Amino acid sequence: MIFLFLVFETNPFNFSLKLCLRGLVAEKEASVEGITVKKEVDFSEWYNQVVLKAELADYAPVRGFMTIRPRGYAIWQAIQDYFNQVIKSKGVRNVYFPLLIPESFFKKESEHAEGFAPELAWIERKEGDEERVAIRPTSETIMYDAFAKWIRSWRDLPFRINQWCNILRWEVKQTKLFLRTREFLWQEGHCVYETEGECVKEALMFLGEYKRLAEELLAIPVFDGEKTELERFAGGKATFTLEALMPDGKALQMGTSHNLGQNFAKSFGLKFLSRNEKEQFAWQNSWGFSTRLIGAVVMVHSDNKGLVLPPRIAEHKAVVVPIIFEKNREKVLRKAKELATQLKEVNAFVDDRDAYSAGWKFNEWELKGIPLRVEFGPKDLEKKQAVLVRRDTGKKTIVKWSSLKKEVKKQLEEMQENLFKKAEKFLKESTVEVSRWNEFKRAVSEKKLVFAPFCEKTGCEEEIKRETTATSRCIPFNQKEAKLECVKCGSAASRKSYFAKSY
Ligand SMILES: [Zn+2]
Repeated sequence: MIFLFLVFETNPFNFSLKLCLRGLVAEKEASVEGITVKKEVDFSEWYNQVVLKAELADYAPVRGFMTIRPRGYAIWQAIQDYFNQVIKSKGVRNVYFPLLIPESFFKKESEHAEGFAPELAWIERKEGDEERVAIRPTSETIMYDAFAKWIRSWRDLPFRINQWCNILRWEVKQTKLFLRTREFLWQEGHCVYETEGECVKEALMFLGEYKRLAEELLAIPVFDGEKTELERFAGGKATFTLEALMPDGKALQMGTSHNLGQNFAKSFGLKFLSRNEKEQFAWQNSWGFSTRLIGAVVMVHSDNKGLVLPPRIAEHKAVVVPIIFEKNREKVLRKAKELATQLKEVNAFVDDRDAYSAGWKFNEWELKGIPLRVEFGPKDLEKKQAVLVRRDTGKKTIVKWSSLKKEVKKQLEEMQENLFKKAEKFLKESTVEVSRWNEFKRAVSEKKLVFAPFCEKTGCEEEIKRETTATSRCIPFNQKEAKLECVKCGSAASRKSYFAKSY
């Protein structure tokens, strides 16, 4: 803006242009008003506003699609960086497979084909007698066709790969930024083993890594277990899942891993020569999470001022906002830059834009979710101090320059922990254990996560869904065998399940 002023200084229309530019600035100041609805009043609209105004994503020209903006993509990259390290330590290598899948591949595994058929997007263009192709809704089929060529012997196993890519599923349900879009980004891991034991063990191991990612990186507590037949992955033998409870009482699937058994191996001819020289079908698992995780982070942690990000995934963990008066402007600015340099480990930067007031900047960085604000004015210059303001609690701390770096690090860690504890408290307080159907219905209507004995029959689950719109989210692992009565139909049940409405 200053640059423009200087240029126009030699312009005969200088005066009016200057006024005009000032007018624009004033208009912009007024328009950044933040979130206009309350999280507790209209959760859905609040969510949309946070995503749009914090500049994480935007609507795209084609309905059901979204554009991920730099602030949103930086969160995805933080998740990728973390998870790439994890999988590399487990012997998984990254690959890239084509976007398009031949129609015949979908027909090889019938359950899989049936499960995905309604969501497939076909490419119209065909050359000669070439068969139709669809955009990948997931990559099992195209990968396993290649695996069948690459894997020959037990010496090639275990075989572990992962792909970061986009996926297209033509949803008919109402779409929502990050949570339900027709195209989304994800990672899909695909592994092949000699034995089912190894296959299941690692499927659970990857689920365990998802749990660590959710809790330690995203500060979101989760509950895990096995999916019922109704909710299982199409073509799989068992699906293990990780779920989190959102503030509106709906559960969100955070990641899944599947024991595919030998189903796909049989369909794609994925055989290997075993240790005793016999040809046998391989065992496979697959596992994935998507950009939905970003939606979960927004919903769980953010507030009525805007985005709140766990420090570990925030691109810039601190912003230095100098409070400038004409008098010692240069000195304050110089010191502000020095402080930001001291804090380069947390990727701090100085907001030295002239066109905006300090108050306006405070609001903007609160809206955009920078975890810590370092305020710094002429008075602080005299006292060799700065004021730290935490995004999650608004707590202010006066810190001497000499201990700034240490204090910033400490407060970021405290914030990460505080966000997790807050969400954990909510999850505990929202979980209700019931054994009778009327209690079940009441708990669902009160937006609780319900834990109840369940017969695990598909017909019964469909009844529950029809009456309450809640579904079984998962059946926790390692439950003690017990003689129970199903909360809905009263028939014999040996385990309990979590139920909730879901995204
Ligand atoms: Zn039942």
